[in-house]
Amino acid sequence: MDVLHSGRWSLSGTSNGKKLYELRFAEAFAEYNGVAYCTPTVNGSTALTIAMRALGIGHGDEVLVPGLTWVACPASVIECGAMPILVDLDPDTLCMSADMARRMITERTKAMMIVHFNCALADLDAFVALSEETGIPLIEDCSQAHGAMWKGRRVGSFGKIGAFSLHNSKVLTAGEGGAAITDDAVLHEKMQQLRANGRRYRASPRPGRVELEWASDVLGWNGCLSEFQAAILLDRLGHLDQENEKREMNAGYLHKRMADIGDVRPLLRHPNVDRLTYFRFCMKFDLNRFGGAKIGQLRAALEAELDVPVLLAGGPLNESPLYDPLKALQLPKADRQRLSAMRFELPVAGEARHHWLALPHNVLMGPEKDIDDIADAVSKLKGVNWASLPADL
Ligand SMILES: *Cc1c(COP(=O)(O)O)cnc(C)c1O
Repeated sequence: MDVLHSGRWSLSGTSNGKKLYELRFAEAFAEYNGVAYCTPTVNGSTALTIAMRALGIGHGDEVLVPGLTWVACPASVIECGAMPILVDLDPDTLCMSADMARRMITERTKAMMIVHFNCALADLDAFVALSEETGIPLIEDCSQAHGAMWKGRRVGSFGKIGAFSLHNSKVLTAGEGGAAITDDAVLHEKMQQLRANGRRYRASPRPGRVELEWASDVLGWNGCLSEFQAAILLDRLGHLDQENEKREMNAGYLHKRMADIGDVRPLLRHPNVDRLTYFRFCMKFDLNRFGGAKIGQLRAALEAELDVPVLLAGGPLNESPLYDPLKALQLPKADRQRLSAMRFELPVAGEARHHWLALPHNVLMGPEKDIDDIADAVSKLKGVNWASLPADL
């Protein structure tokens, strides 16, 4: 209501003498993550794009991207005119494998975009070491890991830039939204201008005047978060730790129940992980021990039992109908051969969809009884003669 009646719905509106919610959220989110700066954006894709543009990534450059992630990751690389290089996963975390990343580095590699995926963290020690050794900057996509911690530090603070989506599906959201965090003042300055048409905040705003001044160090576009979204996010941020703790507690209980059931296991929790964010709770089924079931059968049965959406882990990007880089306008013809997603081998990413199922984060917000329902449903799957049922149940 404060925003509604303020007459100021955007950071590029005229100043009313009050501190913007966008700035307040930026300061709060930077502090929460233990970094110096935050640039809120209209969505997570824009956070990734301004991160790469600020790092000077463009035509001819290559960016490492995990072979299994949301299509926004490679699409934002192409949006910058650069080339996504798809890297296979660590089978225990379904995050980008640091060993595989090392093998895919060439003289053109300008960034490694790691994604903390589902409810696991990429091996940050290995990636930070690889980045230091090669001088290739790390971008952490934390769109599925708001608030997670590795060795006592928040994710997003290990790379040069941490990017977040604040979309409806995420654990911190204003419907749409995003943020890019960094400790680097120069990168921050560029990112601010990139998402505000080359403008930045005035040192001392004057009521009645536009609060942004023209800087034009970079060619920007409009990727700003609105005041309504910023106000919602500022409030929601205050609940994030408590909600993450609740999900983590319920997930811990579900792990325990799964261990008792047997033949179904979660993603690896690396010993350096202090706090996990359960964007999705993942389960890997030993299908032989589940009567030779097809994963689609288990998914359909679990959905019927629980009446919540149960997700497949998703196919590798080079088989995704949403990811056809040859449809991109931005890249010159000469690159088309190298661009084809099919040239990448992604055996681990390719296997994931046949063995993993995932539950959305909201199922972990209820009482313990909900977790018992899930575990009981999983347990029921063991006694079924799947061979007698249609494979596409
Ligand atoms: C959601 C998501 C994005 C994209 O965010 P938008 O806000 O939809 O642009 C990028 N990366 C990952 C890993 C995501 O989960």
